[in-house]
Amino acid sequence: MKQSKFSGVLSCFAFCLLASLMVLPAVCCAELPTVAIVTTGGTIAEKLDPTTGGAVPAVSGKDLLEAVPGLSKTANIRVVEFSNIDSSQMTPEMWAKLSETVDGILADPVIKGVVVTHGTDTMAEGAYFLDLTLKSDKPVVFVGAMRDASDLSPDGPANILNAVIQVCSEEAKGWGVTVTLNQYINSARDVRKTNSTNVQTFDSGEKGYLGYIVMNKVMRYNDPRPRQKLPLPSALPKVALLTTFAGDDGVFVRNAVDQGARGIVIEGVGAGNVNAQVYGAVEYALGKGVAVVITTRVYHSGVWPMYGDQGGGAMLEKIGAILGGDLTGPKARILLMLALAQAKGGPAELKNYFTR
Ligand code: ASP
Repeated sequence: MKQSKFSGVLSCFAFCLLASLMVLPAVCCAELPTVAIVTTGGTIAEKLDPTTGGAVPAVSGKDLLEAVPGLSKTANIRVVEFSNIDSSQMTPEMWAKLSETVDGILADPVIKGVVVTHGTDTMAEGAYFLDLTLKSDKPVVFVGAMRDASDLSPDGPANILNAVIQVCSEEAKGWGVTVTLNQYINSARDVRKTNSTNVQTFDSGEKGYLGYIVMNKVMRYNDPRPRQKLPLPSALPKVALLTTFAGDDGVFVRNAVDQGARGIVIEGVGAGNVNAQVYGAVEYALGKGVAVVITTRVYHSGVWPMYGDQGGGAMLEKIGAILGGDLTGPKARILLMLALAQAKGGPAELKNYFTR
């Protein structure tokens, strides 16, 4: 049947309209950066379980993003579901796998950076693990939530949007891995979880924030310390983390040695001091070739060789213990695990990893 001239024009117009619509989304996507969101679990992806009355992992990566209005106008998003566990169950071996996974994603030239959604309980260590081991220098932002998806006002969606904004921001260059919640941007090295229930829980104490996110803009306040990088070892050595206390008889240090620890981090008191019994246990550990790093229970300033009596920081350093500077105990443990796997030169080389 011969088509009328009009129907021919109409079908041509319809084709062009359809073709332009197909191109339009491609043009929009081409203008937006592409950010990968790697989900690992945590409160941000949890919901209240009526049977236990507690939050349990229940939200998929896809659902997470659907709860974030405006995300599609900020970036093209790719979701990679790595795990869905409470971060109290995370292990250094899982962080090693996560580091490999994130590096693999960052190797794609299309990817601007990565947002990792993670539980807040061990986020500070996990972020530091990746800050130390990632090969790529592209932005990686750890984000989580203190209120779960069933809460009256969950904080996860805004934290995810801010993390994506930070990854896309030119202001955020050169920060390495950060922990960004409640608009505040912290370096992975210096950040601590400081409040077990409040949305304003992560801060870096006297080191200050790297920046702040307001009205979809990144405000740059500071630069981080020079970034240390260590290769991922094939296996992570066993490193104990112990906190000393009044009346400590040193038995836990000795037991860690006898249980095969290759390193021990001791959170001392004050500027990095321990009592005479623990000092004797440190001598025992060092005599068995076990590396000992001294940090402190104290929040600010860190460990210094100020005291020369038995158990003082100066004496501990003299007998071969390593002073951990201003690293927290958990962070020093992560660094010691990775350094032990590299330090072929023994204690002298090991010490270099802690003097930055
Ligand atoms: N227990 C949770 C977790 O670390 C806490 C949180 O994510 O806020 O996975």
